[in-house]
Amino acid sequence: MSNRIVRTRFAPSPTGHMHIGNLRSALYEYLVAKSQKGKFILRIEDTDQERVVEGAVEIIYRTLKSCGLTYDEGPDIGGPHAPYIQSERRQHYLHHAERLVEEGKAYYCFCSKDKSVLNSVDDPADNFHSYDRSCRNLSAAEIAAHLSNGESYVIRQKMPLTGTTKFVDEVFGEIAVENKELEDQVLIKSDGFPTYNFANVVDDHEMEITHVVRGSEYLSSTPKYNLLYEAFGWEIPNYIHLPLILGEDGSKLSKRHGATSFGDLVKLGYLPEAIVNYIAFLGWAPGGDTREIFSLAELENTFSVEGISKSPAIFSYAKLDWFNEQYLRVLSPDEFVEMIKPYTDDVFIDKVYDPALLARILQTRTTKLSDIPDMIAFFRQADPLHIELYMQKRSKLNPEAGVEILTDLIAALTNLSDWTENSIKDYLNAYAEDSGRKAGQVMGALRPSLSGRSVTPGGAIEMLIILGKEESLKRLTAALHFLQQTA
Ligand code: GLU
Repeated sequence: MSNRIVRTRFAPSPTGHMHIGNLRSALYEYLVAKSQKGKFILRIEDTDQERVVEGAVEIIYRTLKSCGLTYDEGPDIGGPHAPYIQSERRQHYLHHAERLVEEGKAYYCFCSKDKSVLNSVDDPADNFHSYDRSCRNLSAAEIAAHLSNGESYVIRQKMPLTGTTKFVDEVFGEIAVENKELEDQVLIKSDGFPTYNFANVVDDHEMEITHVVRGSEYLSSTPKYNLLYEAFGWEIPNYIHLPLILGEDGSKLSKRHGATSFGDLVKLGYLPEAIVNYIAFLGWAPGGDTREIFSLAELENTFSVEGISKSPAIFSYAKLDWFNEQYLRVLSPDEFVEMIKPYTDDVFIDKVYDPALLARILQTRTTKLSDIPDMIAFFRQADPLHIELYMQKRSKLNPEAGVEILTDLIAALTNLSDWTENSIKDYLNAYAEDSGRKAGQVMGALRPSLSGRSVTPGGAIEMLIILGKEESLKRLTAALHFLQQTA
């Protein structure tokens, strides 16, 4: 296998959303291939037709595209092993299953579902339940009789009854199961569809997959897959199983922990690049390199299977926040303006404002884009004032000083014709100096008067500019009245 070109596949089931665990599988599959100049293939696993959700395949395409995980072969772009959707490959599975039946390695089972369960062998010592194999040795005549009655059947594989099946996973090491613990697995269901287990093996073989990369929940089923490869005489691929992803409380990552799908994270305003960078670290670390910020191209150069850990990875929203902040900070101002538009336009309906200035005050303070509307809601309407806003120990501001400052500033700002950052700044500095007040106290009176808040993104001058002269003076006057009545 060593001189074959590396081929990996992402094989999602179209169930409606892209869970972080699935996206991590896709990313590692992509990286295993691309770090070795190999090919990355997309295959849709829709054998369980009951679970198929409309539009889910488009979500898969869209997510991979947003994350830059470009596949070399796939349902929408074709390739030498098309079709890449399992429901369109039914004849392939049937053909292979029939071959095993002919070779005596699989058999028709006419037991009804209920009967299979009823006949199951229950071994309390092993806590193991399995089909009792009553159709395993039917004679040709018995089979013909069942068929001529028009009975439906499944095709089961004859598993070895003794011995052990072992394989070495590149992350988890040697895995072994006793063959007697393996049920005669169903390959083809009574509706003619293959089981996931069977389709997966047939496709991985036909699509020449060299490295099967997937979640560790498949680790214990892998010996069964290997028995299929052996029954066919096919080469067994390399296996790279990935560690579980847990929430910070140590339980499996689920909705309970917050947004867990790529789509929901994007809706919250996490950038795809930040998500990809973060999830690269959910189970992998670059040996000897303490850097954390990696573009996809850098990951392709750095990634190696040795860096994958078998210990569960912990998904931390705080860490994802940190990654997102790093990505937001390095955007160009124009890119940031463009990106926040959907979040700012709602707040500034009908209001003239300077998007570049707004972006300047937000870019260094935003963790995720969906925080923005709350951060800037006061531009549309100031929060209600309360007296504590004017009781500031550090700047020695008190309501009386507030009344004096606002009275002076309203008069002077009304006469300021040049409403620009520079002239407002010059004026406020001169005012602080002339009145013997600290600049912090002057700004301390302006900030809550303009916003109703003690903390705002940006300083008083930026707020004055964004609000414009008329709205600023209106708010300062309202604040002065408030103080005069309350103080
Ligand atoms: N369709 C399976 C899933 O979505 C893929 C498992 C595999 O990669 O083999 O979990």
